[in-house]
Amino acid sequence: NLILAIETSCDETSAAVIAEGHKVLSNVIASQITTHQIFGGVVPEIASRKHMESITAVVDRALQEAQCTWSDITAIAVTKGPGLVGALLVGVAYAKGVAMAREIPLVGVHHIEGHIYANFLQKPQLEFPLLCLVVSGGHTHLIHLIDHGKMKIIGSTRDDAAGEAYDKIARALGLGYPGGPLIEKIAQEGDPARYDLPRAWLKDSYDFSFSGLKSAVLNMLNRAKLKGEEIDKASLAAAFQNSVVDVLVEKTCDAAKELQVPTVLLAGGVAANNYLRQRLQKALQGQGQELIVPPLELCTDNAAMIGCAGYYRLQKGERAGSDLNGQANLPLTDS
Ligand code: ATP
Ligand code: MG
Ligand code: FE
Repeated sequence: NLILAIETSCDETSAAVIAEGHKVLSNVIASQITTHQIFGGVVPEIASRKHMESITAVVDRALQEAQCTWSDITAIAVTKGPGLVGALLVGVAYAKGVAMAREIPLVGVHHIEGHIYANFLQKPQLEFPLLCLVVSGGHTHLIHLIDHGKMKIIGSTRDDAAGEAYDKIARALGLGYPGGPLIEKIAQEGDPARYDLPRAWLKDSYDFSFSGLKSAVLNMLNRAKLKGEEIDKASLAAAFQNSVVDVLVEKTCDAAKELQVPTVLLAGGVAANNYLRQRLQKALQGQGQELIVPPLELCTDNAAMIGCAGYYRLQKGERAGSDLNGQANLPLTDS
């Protein structure tokens, strides 16, 4: 049982070969970051063209690294949304083409479900029910995972996603793109107590809000500029990160307590943040619950996670037809 997985939702062209749903035989990621860096963010039109240029080579390389050939592949899993529609279409069209030519099953996977399943790679023993904190570039959710393919979103961001906030603040501080890893790095040299920033608790709700924090940081930067004052970027980055992580940790711990799940998962690009990983692990441990995190390289976009999520959908008999389409705003449904 070898699944070929394909992910092209944003600016990474990725292909992976997964054995028995959990073993990563290869996970090739061609990042377009250097192409988009000069624009300070992803340019959709360029992203689709780049996916088109790289997809064949990326898949060939994934097969090669897994030491297998097309005839060994028993199914195809592909990200069907959400994401940039032009980018998604490249992966979806490619996957439909090979599934038809090789006469093997095809399944479409929700990108965020993929992020969640990065936790299941190498871990077939994980047991439901679980709670998952998803913190990615475009999403922030607390999700109660009841079974494979059965989930309930109990909280979401009302404005910016956590990763989006990191990226916007990094840009304002002139650090570059993508901002998450750059903020994390510079924050290590800062004193978070030097700047006082707000935290949106949104009492009695598991929802999040990061736009007020973003405005507070931007106002601070503008005021300093007008007054000709120096800003200690490292300390401002540290204060920002503390604000974000304080809220993520407290809400996740509260939800874990209420749902009484023994295990909590972390998923999405911001799950690569070591400060968040450590704070959340410690806080959950303090209330007798365990935190599982994906390996660092599986937190950001990759096809291996799509292969794992696709495996469970295929197991349940789910199949996509030739009408499979990329969907920019595909909702993460409760079924
Ligand atoms: P989505 O998955 O919601 O569609 P995406 O695919 O664009 O969004 P992700 O896969 O979540 O993005 O990964 C990129 C995001 O993760 C960016 O916002 C980036 O700044 C953030 N990120 C990556 N590494 C870190 C880190 N070490 N600390 C904080 N944020 C990080
Ligand atoms: Mg990306
Ligand atoms: Fe992603």
